[in-house]
Amino acid sequence: MKKLFYVFILFALVSCGAQQTATISSDAPQTSTVQSAVHVTAQSIIAQMDKGKYREGELLVKFKSGVVTTSSLKIHQGVGASVTNKFTVVPNLELVKLPQGLSIKDAILQYMADPNVEYAEPNYIKRASAARIPTDQYFGQQWSLHNIGQFAGGAEDADIDAPEAWDISQGSSSIIVAVLDTGIDYNHPDLVSNIWINTGETSCIDGIDNDGNGYIDDCKGWDFSRCAQFNPSPPYNCITSKSPDKYPMDDNGHGTHVAGIIGAVGNNGVGIAGVMWNVKLMALKFLNADGEGTIADEIEGIQYAIAKGAKIINASFGSGEYSQVEYNAINAANAAGILFVAAAGNGGEDGIGDNNDLTPFYPASYNLPNIISVAATDQNDVRASFSNFGPTSVHVAAPGVYILSTVPLGVTFALCTGSPYAGYDFCTGTSMAAPHVSGLAGLLYSYYNGIHNTQFDLSQVRNTIFRYGDVLPTLTGWIQTGKRINAHWAVSSLLIPTNLATTATSPTQISITWSDNATGEDGYKIERKVSGGSYTQIAVVALNTMTYTDSSGISPTTTYTYRVRAYNTIPADSSYSNEASATTPAEPVVPTGGGGGCSIGARQNTPTAVADFVVMLIPLLFVVVIKFRRRV
Ligand code: CA
Ligand code: CA
Ligand code: CA
Ligand code: CA
Repeated sequence: MKKLFYVFILFALVSCGAQQTATISSDAPQTSTVQSAVHVTAQSIIAQMDKGKYREGELLVKFKSGVVTTSSLKIHQGVGASVTNKFTVVPNLELVKLPQGLSIKDAILQYMADPNVEYAEPNYIKRASAARIPTDQYFGQQWSLHNIGQFAGGAEDADIDAPEAWDISQGSSSIIVAVLDTGIDYNHPDLVSNIWINTGETSCIDGIDNDGNGYIDDCKGWDFSRCAQFNPSPPYNCITSKSPDKYPMDDNGHGTHVAGIIGAVGNNGVGIAGVMWNVKLMALKFLNADGEGTIADEIEGIQYAIAKGAKIINASFGSGEYSQVEYNAINAANAAGILFVAAAGNGGEDGIGDNNDLTPFYPASYNLPNIISVAATDQNDVRASFSNFGPTSVHVAAPGVYILSTVPLGVTFALCTGSPYAGYDFCTGTSMAAPHVSGLAGLLYSYYNGIHNTQFDLSQVRNTIFRYGDVLPTLTGWIQTGKRINAHWAVSSLLIPTNLATTATSPTQISITWSDNATGEDGYKIERKVSGGSYTQIAVVALNTMTYTDSSGISPTTTYTYRVRAYNTIPADSSYSNEASATTPAEPVVPTGGGGGCSIGARQNTPTAVADFVVMLIPLLFVVVIKFRRRV
C-alpha cells in the first residue's frame, strides 16, 4: 500500500506542473482584431530584432492611454509576466519580466495582439559609443582613423573607427612589428619611444656581436641593403654598392611614413597617432634611397624578423616577378607564426589599378596563409583608382589616399604631396593602406594575446580582420572580402562576457545569466565544475542568448561554479567571464497525509480546480488498474 501512495504523490506533482502551463496558454489572447494605433506592428518590431542585441526575458510594454492598471495587470498575467519597472518619461510604459521559456518574439506577438497595447519591444542593449580621441596635434588631419569629413568631399565615418578601437586597445610594447622597407627615422620625435631595441645586444658600440645573431651592435635593427644605386636600364646592375650596417636609418622617407601609420606614438600631444599607440617597430632596411632592393637582402630581413620574434611583417613593396626564394622565406615566416601584410600594388606605369588575379604583384600575390594583400580606399570609402584589386588574390582594403604620417625632416618620396607640418607628409598608395592593416593586426595581438590571454594565432587574427570589416560597394566583387577594415569591430568582436550570475531555482536546476559585450560572437560556451573538479563544457547557446537554465545532472545541496565565454566560427574564443557559483537546496520534504499535493488549495477559479481534480483522479485509476491486474 505504501508504494502505491508514492505513485499517487508523483502523479499529483506532475498535474501541478501541467496545470501552470495550461493556465498560461489558455488565458493568453489568441487573435488580434484591433490594429495598433501607432505605426509599429508586431511584424515590424520582430523584423528588426535580428539586427540588435536585447535582454532575454525582458520586454518593454507600452499601453494605450486610458488603460487602467487593473487591465494592464490582467494582460501581464495572461502572458505570465510580472512588472519590474514603470516610467513617467514615457507614460504607460512598463518593463516586464517574462516567464521562463517564453521567447521574446512570442511575447511580442501576445502583447501586440491585445488591443490595449500600443507596442511591445525588446529591451535593446545600447553600447557606450566610447571613443578615445588622442591629444596628437595633427590628429584632426588623420581622416583614415577618424573621418569627420575634414578632407574635401570626404564622407563622415569613411574610416577604420580607430578611436572606438582605442577605447579597448591602444597596442602593446610587447608586440613587434617589422617594417621591411627603406629604414625608419628612429630618431623621429613621434617614433623614438616606439622603436624596437635589441636588448640582447648589450652594447651598441663595443664592436662585439653580444647576442650572437651574426650582426655586430645591431641595437635598432639592421640595414641589409647592399646596393646604393641600381642602373635604371638593363641589365639593372648595381652601379654603387654599399655595405650592410647597423644603422637602418631611412634615406628615402617611405619606411618612416609606413612606420608612423602603424605606430607613431599616440596621445603624446605631438604630431600624429599610429593605429597602435604602443608598439615596437623593428627597422629592417633593404630598400635603398631610391626605394629599390634585392630579394637576397629582403629575405635576410625576413630571417632577422623571425629570429627576433616579430609578430607581423609589413611589406609595402613589390614587383611582378614570381620568386621561389621570396615565397619560401615568407613561408618560413608563416611557420614561425608571423603575419605578412603586403601592399596590393599601385597599378603599374599607367597608374590605373590592375587585376592581381591576372597580373600578380609579389609578395602580395603569393598564395600563402600568412599573407594579407591590401588594396586602398579613399576618404569617401571608394576604392582608389590606382589600387590593384583581385577578387581572389586581394583580401581587404584600407585607407591609402592623403595619409598623413611621419617622414624624416626634409625628406620625402614620390608618393607624397607635401604638408605644412615639418616631419610629416601626406602620401598616397597601397603602401599606406597595408600599414593600417598591420596596425590593426597589432591591436588584435595586443588585446587577444596580451591583455586578455586568449592566444590568438595568425590565422585567427587574419580571419578576424577579414570578417569584421565594412562591405563597400566599390570593393564588392573587386577584392576577396569586399571590405574595408574596421578596427573597432575587429577588436571588439570577442570581448569578454561579464556580470555572470547564478541562482539555484530548485534542488535540480540552476539559472545563469551574463552580460554580452562581444560584437562578433556566434554564441556562448558555458562551462561548469563542482568544487575540486575541473571545468567541462555543458552547453553552447546561440547569439544574443544571455541566459541558460542548467538542469542536467544537477544534484541537491551541491555547489556548482560556472564560467562562460563568447565564441565565433572563425573559430576563436573570448577569455572567460567571471566565475559564479550557486548551491542547490535540499529536496523538499514530501508532505504526508491528506491534501496530496499542491494543486487543490491554490486554485482560484472553478474550471481549473475541476480540471485539476480530474487530473488527480488519473493516478487513482492507475492504482485501481494495477490492483485489478494483480488479482488476475
Ligand atoms: Ca569612424
Ligand atoms: Ca648582434
Ligand atoms: Ca655589441
Ligand atoms: Ca604622436
